[in-house]
Amino acid sequence: MPIHRWSIPTGDFVLRNVRAPACLIDVPTLPARSDGLCDCDVVIIDGRIAEIGRPGSDVGDRACIDGDHGIVLPRLVDLHTHLDKGHIWPRKPNPDGTHWGARTSVMADREASWNAADVYARMDFAIRCAYAHGTAAIRTHIDSLGKQAAISWPVFSEMREKWKGKVDLQAVALFPIDYAVDQPDAFRALVELVARHRGVMGGMTFLGTLPDEKSKTALTALFEAAAANGLDLDFHVDESDAVEARSLSLIADTISKLRFKGKVVAGHCCSLALAPEHEISETIDRVSQSGLTVVSLPMCNMYLMGRTANLTPRWRGVTLVQELAAAGVPVAVASDNTRDPFYAYGDLDLIEVYRESIRILQLDHGSANWPSLVARTPAEVMGLSHGVIKTGASADLMLLRARTFNELNARPQNDRAVLIAGRVIDTVPPDYRELDELLGVTP
Ligand SMILES: [Zn+2]
Repeated sequence: MPIHRWSIPTGDFVLRNVRAPACLIDVPTLPARSDGLCDCDVVIIDGRIAEIGRPGSDVGDRACIDGDHGIVLPRLVDLHTHLDKGHIWPRKPNPDGTHWGARTSVMADREASWNAADVYARMDFAIRCAYAHGTAAIRTHIDSLGKQAAISWPVFSEMREKWKGKVDLQAVALFPIDYAVDQPDAFRALVELVARHRGVMGGMTFLGTLPDEKSKTALTALFEAAAANGLDLDFHVDESDAVEARSLSLIADTISKLRFKGKVVAGHCCSLALAPEHEISETIDRVSQSGLTVVSLPMCNMYLMGRTANLTPRWRGVTLVQELAAAGVPVAVASDNTRDPFYAYGDLDLIEVYRESIRILQLDHGSANWPSLVARTPAEVMGLSHGVIKTGASADLMLLRARTFNELNARPQNDRAVLIAGRVIDTVPPDYRELDELLGVTP
């Protein structure tokens, strides 16, 4: 029976004739095609992957589903989102589409409306979207300045419990890094709050001027606070087209200088693409020595960067993913914002993020490892076992009708099936109408 009719049995079965990206399975005996896909059969017993073998292998009298050469993926991992901002667009759109417009609009909406019930409802809606699209884990940044931290972090913890077993959630405190220097007492209280909620420390590094002594002091304070509390770090870095945005190498140097043992993620890093060649190679060298992971947010940054009223943008707004990967830097791509002033669109669908990243970053020739961008690499830096298809793991899979990367990237893959522990889940995302009352929208 073809899988697009969704007749997945409820018991044990064998997924016949599917294709898995070689970079997401650890079965060296399976030969990969030239596009990096491996033809295979996947045996699912008691909701777990019992075996990944060559097509046509002897599986006894178990029920079989014919995958008809469709691609099978693990459920995917979204390394950088903003669940606390999500879906406010109908209530507070960006007036001109700029980064500044986004910041001021979000600030105003946060002041006016972000009580616990509001944050909870929008967060839950966003996670339901991600779940329906086949996402296994999400890391979200949480606006953590002033009174908002005490409102949003408990909501996040509640959400993490609610979604346990379906979507693994992590949260990062977001604030300008100068906060650590300007308001040391409030910063210390924030570190305690983040540690109590088992979060990740973060911070926005480029604040409009070249990094200076104050930036160094702030970064050092952040790294020391993270080290003292056993926390990882995840920064918003140089999300700008300004030449002054040069924090990435400073972060890399701080990791090396302090011998920081935790994991560090640098998000955005847009302005690196506009630096002179010698500075690019020097920065990439330092980043690669530091061991940090870079996450690019191509859909959001193409929307925000290079935007000037009545002008066509001159660049794509994305960091140097190909060069960083070539230097051995772990690289991921992620959703970033969804339906808020930083990005008007998006639905936390990592198939969309992957497809758009391939197009925007021109990753459609060369390496066969790019599926790792939304799977193995983000899972590793988040310390999770998701993002790979492996024997013994829960059968958390996504089944596509697409047989090649060309077919995968040509369509939205709305006919995908998503399995958790070998069972099909409902892949219909929630209806926007559910948020009308909360957002004060009248149709
Ligand atoms: Zn972000």
